Amino acid sequence: MTETPKKAPTCSICGKPVDPAYKPFCSKRCANVDLHRWLKGSYVIAGGRADEQMADEEPASPPPDDKE
Ligand SMILES: [Zn+2]
Repeated sequence: MTETPKKAPTCSICGKPVDPAYKPFCSKRCANVDLHRWLKGSYVIAGGRADEQMADEEPASPPPDDKE
């Protein structure tokens, strides 16, 4: 293996060099493009996660019908 210089990360949307301010994207526009894709793709999953979050917020209290 020959030493290869670290390639600068490129925007997964358009392939341009990543801007640290918007990484892992090159610009806010590309970041938004990916965000919208992500939101669309996770719409269904988001519904399921809402339940998980609610359960997580509930304090671990003992069940009311725990007779002992
Ligand atoms: Zn881009």
